[in-house]
Amino acid sequence: MRTILLDRPPRRRPDPARTLLAVSAERTNWAGNLHYGATRIHTPASVDEVQDLVARTGRIRALGSRHSFSDVADTTGELVSLARLPRLIKVDRAARTVTVGAGLRYGDVAAELHRRGWALHNLGSLPHISVAGAVATATHGSGDRNGNLATAVTGLQLVGGDGELLAVRRGDPDFPGAVVALGALGVVTTVTLDVVPAFDVRQVVYDDLATDTVAERFDEIFAAAYSVSVFTDWAGTTRAWVKHRVEDGDDWTPEPAWMGARLAAEPRNPVPGMPAVNCTEQLGVAGPWFDRLPHFRLEFTPSSGDELQSEFLVPREHAPDAFRAIAALAGRIAPVLQVCELRTVAADDLWLSSSYGRDVAGFHFTWRQDPDAVLPVLAEIEAALAPYDARPHWGKLFTAEPEQVQERYPRLADFRRLRGEYDPDDRFGNDFVDRYLG
Ligand SMILES: Cc1cc2nc3c(=O)[nH]c(=O)nc-3n(C[C@H](O)[C@H](O)[C@H](O)COP(=O)(O)OP(=O)(O)OC[C@H]3O[C@@H](n4cnc5c(N)ncnc54)[C@H](O)[C@@H]3O)c2cc1C
Repeated sequence: MRTILLDRPPRRRPDPARTLLAVSAERTNWAGNLHYGATRIHTPASVDEVQDLVARTGRIRALGSRHSFSDVADTTGELVSLARLPRLIKVDRAARTVTVGAGLRYGDVAAELHRRGWALHNLGSLPHISVAGAVATATHGSGDRNGNLATAVTGLQLVGGDGELLAVRRGDPDFPGAVVALGALGVVTTVTLDVVPAFDVRQVVYDDLATDTVAERFDEIFAAAYSVSVFTDWAGTTRAWVKHRVEDGDDWTPEPAWMGARLAAEPRNPVPGMPAVNCTEQLGVAGPWFDRLPHFRLEFTPSSGDELQSEFLVPREHAPDAFRAIAALAGRIAPVLQVCELRTVAADDLWLSSSYGRDVAGFHFTWRQDPDAVLPVLAEIEAALAPYDARPHWGKLFTAEPEQVQERYPRLADFRRLRGEYDPDDRFGNDFVDRYLG
């Protein structure tokens, strides 16, 4: 069900020359592995301008902070970035929600929310990504009981194909199809998210975790704290990032040894060879949720910057076997890898979510930026994971055939119907959406 918002004042006609002058110079994604095929990238300054732009443009789709490695955001039509829209962060204390401008970065939203005493339930590894872009691809953090970032969404406002403003809210029958939508239903202008009272987190790193232990004690390791990540380079360095939520009166002190691993005495960067100063504070020092749950700090380059990424989300019960299947390829993986990260994500009901209907373990790979060397290894990993019904992350690189991807999404037919209703003229589609969603 789509609600057309009628309570807006009549629209001012924006000056088209101003919008065109604002065409952005950014032509590639963050990693530089993708040159957008769009003829223009617009950066309107108001929702009115977005509406007008959509109404008068043929093929168009929204662009977030450009952090996807796949061509999910690309188009041969035009792109629209909301980065210049007025900053909107509106807390509804009674409803325990915050409504934010869709183009804002999580880092900007989080600091302001915390100042007002609120928090989001989880964050991805970096605070640099836009809220709408992260939600659209089911971006996730870690934690056995933490759903991905899209599960916090309670409502969206979006510009549809005729430039009309639409609203969809949790409880609407089509809501679970409209949240993780790969930009295919329209340009989302605001996102309303659940909030919880602000909380503190302490994070510690354990060095020298044995990969055999990870396979044998997978569930125990990931149940050990609010959010746990295991990083390995498949060449002898395996570490765990353990993020403990601080409860009132909590005097938690980390064990010097855990799962056969040793408590790190100095801060670490998950990516071998990168400086720890880029990372959020470790060593068990309590601090605000938004400054501990992401691995990387907003004011520094996240990860290594010179990289490619892939990730596969495997049903939780297959995680140890999937881990062993990947371990068997360690000799192939290590030469082209920077680091591999394992995380867990709770099940949800969002049709195109990689954790739709099941708890999952994420097997993430930060590769060297050498596609010729990486792609054959990636195909081997996907073959090894095939028996485990792995879903690829929409925003990262994968080689699976479209039919293999489609068969892993049981609500795909429902999403196709929704797309037909929201976008009958195929204004917001692109090659990626056509390829994988049909
Ligand atoms: C260093 C690094 C670390 C990462 N860490 C994680 C992680 O911890 N967990 C994880 O799951 N992923 C992670 N990712 C992947 C990243 O979160 C996703 O690719 C995410 O989609 C990027 O968001 P973005 O704002 O850059 O969106 P973009 O890449 O710009 O766009 C992604 C999709 O969102 C759509 N979109 C963007 N804005 C809107 C809008 N306003 N309305 C409608 N659709 C919109 C686009 O059309 C496109 O389909 C990481 C990526 C990088 C580069």
